[in-house]
This record gives sequence, C-alpha cells and structure tokens, in this order.
Amino acid sequence: MFEGVIGQELAKGYLARAVTSGRLAHAYLFHGPAGVGKRTLARMFLKAVACVNRMDGACGLCPPCRMFAAGTYPDLCVLSGANRPIGIDQVRQMQRGLRYRPYGTRHLCLIEDAEEMTVEAANTLLKTLEEPEGPALFILTGSRPDRLPPTVVSRCLKIPFRPLTRDEIIAGLENMGFKGDILPVAAALSRGSLGRAAEAAAGREDERRGKAVSLAGALVSGLGTAELCARARELGERTELLALTEWLLLWYRDLLWWRETQNTGLLVYADHLDEVRRQAGRVTTPVLVQAINVIEDVRKKLLANANVRLAAEVLCLRLAELVQGGRA
Ligand SMILES: [Zn+2]
Repeated sequence: MFEGVIGQELAKGYLARAVTSGRLAHAYLFHGPAGVGKRTLARMFLKAVACVNRMDGACGLCPPCRMFAAGTYPDLCVLSGANRPIGIDQVRQMQRGLRYRPYGTRHLCLIEDAEEMTVEAANTLLKTLEEPEGPALFILTGSRPDRLPPTVVSRCLKIPFRPLTRDEIIAGLENMGFKGDILPVAAALSRGSLGRAAEAAAGREDERRGKAVSLAGALVSGLGTAELCARARELGERTELLALTEWLLLWYRDLLWWRETQNTGLLVYADHLDEVRRQAGRVTTPVLVQAINVIEDVRKKLLANANVRLAAEVLCLRLAELVQGGRA
C-alpha cells in the first residue's frame, strides 16, 4: 500500500490495517526524526482514505485519487509550519472549512511540523480535536512532539517513526538517482534521515560539478603536457573519475547547446554562463562533438577496468588538444 516509502514497517503496517478495516482514529500524530518519510506517508495514507476503490491503498484512477494527484482534492486542508509558525488565523480558517459538508466522507486535515504552531493556534485546534464540527480526520506530523501542548498530543493516536537504517538510506538515495561511492558517505552523514543524506550526496555532487568546471577551464588555458598529466593525477580513483566525467560531458553538451541555440534555458551550467560563452566561442561544433566522444570513450574504458591513471591522462591530453586547437 505504501510502495516507495523507505522503512517504517511498523507505521506502514498499522496504517494499512486502519485503511483496509475502515477503523480510523480521529487524529494521528506522526512523530520521529526529520527526513524519514512522515509527510510522504501521511499524504499516501490520506489519499488511500479518500480513494473510493480502496482495497490495497489508493487505486490511482478514481476521481478522488486523480484530484489528489493534481493537488485539487477539495476535502484536503494542509497547514505547514516548515517555514513559519502556524498562526491562529490559519487554524480558524481550517475550522471554518470543516463546517461545510465534505465532498467525500470526511475532511482531511494535515498539519505538518505541528510543533511550529503558536500556543493560541494549538489551543484553538484543541477545541476541534475535542469536539469536531463535522466528519474529519487529522494528521499532525512533527519531530518535536514535546513542544506541542500535552492536551493536543493526548487527543492523537501516536505513530512513531524511527531513524532509517544504513541500507534503507542507500536504497532511498538510489531511488533518488544517486549512485556510486557517494552512497555510503552520505549514509554515514545522514543520522538516519534520508533528507539529510540527500543533502550530503548533493553537496558532493556540487563539488564534482565545480571540479569539472575548473578542469574544463584548465584544458583551454594552454597548459603543457607535463602540467596536464599532473592535473590528470589529481582527478581521483575510478568511481570518482567516472562521476567527474559525467559532469564533464554535461559541460561540453552545454557548450554545444550554447553554440547551436544561444539559449540559456536548458543549460546545466547556466551559473557559469560567461565561461560557457567564452569556451563555446573558441571551438567549432565538430570539435565539441569529438570532445564528447573522447569523454564517452574514456568512460567506456574505465568501466572495462582500464588503468585509471592512463585513462585520466588520455582524457586531459586529448581534450586539451581538441579545445586548444579547435578554434572556430
Ligand atoms: Zn482511488
């Protein structure tokens, strides 16, 4: 029912049984560390509750499911304390909505980062939790439930979310498209949070992206063979070099794209536009196509277990020769 949510078997099992049996609590509190799937699971749970064909989760086809996917389901009200505290006005507005008859069987109220509610807002919400004016299901999510008034917490069925395991983090990062040696590093830095792991992985990618820009700059700067070979030795081991060449490919694709269209809209390196423009102006389109072929060839060799140092040297020397000799 909750495919795609990493870990949290306890919470998933509990919520799945609640949906299939139709025995729903009036209010839930999903609590646990940030970045472990509380919000994702909350939305999937609410969608499954709204679905008219619910058997094993939301069908994805019925009108409520379609509206949910489009973000237009009329019974869903979301308050979020992620960026600023949830104030009393927001809670009152939600309460006014509860007076109307729902489109489906009940109003669905999701309050994310609920501990970021002001005291007045929490007290106002408490009244609704005690005596709802109409059929409604509440989910509060939060990583610091101790900061919520105990009276609010006691009205909710508490569903604990635990920190994710290393394997779960790695699986989650792979789902997000990260791969290679970055995975264990990011998992080690994650402290059980997929969000934090993804940030760490993205930071490492930023570093590689910067390295690719710097290398491309060095290649057009007129370095001699010895200097280029020294540069090649700094490019790291096989997995690092493979990751770097992906960014380098994108760099030369950007140069090609700029030469052909002068359109910045699809540039991966739009933040380095001056350098893209400068380097693209120095070479011809066939040279850039050749440069891309050189990189792809080196990647193939690296994947086929070729000597890493040799591959790095070939990469630097061949590319430098092309981009320095290939004036338009
Ligand atoms: Zn459905």
